[in-house]
Amino acid sequence: MHKKTFTLLIILSLFLFSHTFFSPLAESTPNQPGVVDLRILETTDLHASLVNYDYYQTKTDNRIGLVKTATLIRNARNEVQNSLLFDDGDHLKGNPLGEYLARIRGIHKGKIHPVYRAFNFLAYDAIAIGNHEFNYGLDFLNAAIKGAKMPVINANVYSVKKNKPYFTPYVILKRNVVDQTGGKHELNIGVISFMPTQIMKWDKANLEGKVIAKPIVDTAKEFIPIMKSKGADIIVALAHTGISSEPYSDEMENAVYYLTKGPGIDVVLAGHSHSVFPGPVYKNIPNTNIKTGQINGKPVVMAGAFGSRLGIIDLTIQKSNGNWKVVKGTSLTRPIADESGNPLVRKDKGLYKLVKPEHQETVDYIKKLGL
Ligand code: MN
Ligand code: MG
Repeated sequence: MHKKTFTLLIILSLFLFSHTFFSPLAESTPNQPGVVDLRILETTDLHASLVNYDYYQTKTDNRIGLVKTATLIRNARNEVQNSLLFDDGDHLKGNPLGEYLARIRGIHKGKIHPVYRAFNFLAYDAIAIGNHEFNYGLDFLNAAIKGAKMPVINANVYSVKKNKPYFTPYVILKRNVVDQTGGKHELNIGVISFMPTQIMKWDKANLEGKVIAKPIVDTAKEFIPIMKSKGADIIVALAHTGISSEPYSDEMENAVYYLTKGPGIDVVLAGHSHSVFPGPVYKNIPNTNIKTGQINGKPVVMAGAFGSRLGIIDLTIQKSNGNWKVVKGTSLTRPIADESGNPLVRKDKGLYKLVKPEHQETVDYIKKLGL
């Protein structure tokens, strides 16, 4: 063979190989009308960790704080055209700032609790109530959630007096989304929320005689057909409950596995366990893929606690015969710090400024006590 032809063949084959094996285009499908990429973001179990600060050791801690997660939220939103942001509950209590506001200072009339001020600033689409939201009593909770501009939901805590859900059980959010070719669509996103029935033991003094808790999976089975009949195209569960494959029981605390099993729920935002999904902790759960973040084929995410991570679910949904169907759903989490606690993101200055007054009051109060 002529030397020049041989060289040309080598170059040509390298070119072909590189396209087959290394080009990211090789795996993706061409853009299609009626196919929408929708990103769903989760924070969970913040426990009033607004600032990257350890009130016990009175020093900066870059492994916690919504002011850090906020930067991940901003980045994750900027990468895509369509996104939604949810909190999965346990956001009011768990650190000295939460205690100071609830037990010492109280919420002044007309003032918004800094956790909800932060949620308003970051434009959360809906938030769940977690079991710890009851720790300061129903009156405090009801006063505090008045400050939240987005729906605050839970479906399985019922009022004893009215025998109806005590909170808003679900919402159907109407959102304008853009498909892969730029076409516009209106999507009805059904959002429902649950928490462990164990609240009746954990918060007996605050709850007995006022509310009861119904089993999580039964509640899902009751409401999902109603949500569908009211036009929900897809259903997202803000499930303030963990992941376990123990045999089913009505009163199971960690019910995510069984929420993913039945039809109806498309996406599960998990929480309560302060753990990370997808992650190696869950590698032995059956029908679970810790690479793609799916349990029983459904995308699930759990973003640790205290703002340490942002949960991200990337859905591809497709409209056919007038109905939207999830054709792909994967999940991952992004951390705010590396394993040694070194920061991976800066804090969101706007959010920090907004919550700084109460942060500073808490720090001053601790100093006054000489702690
Ligand atoms: Mn929690
Ligand atoms: Mg919890």
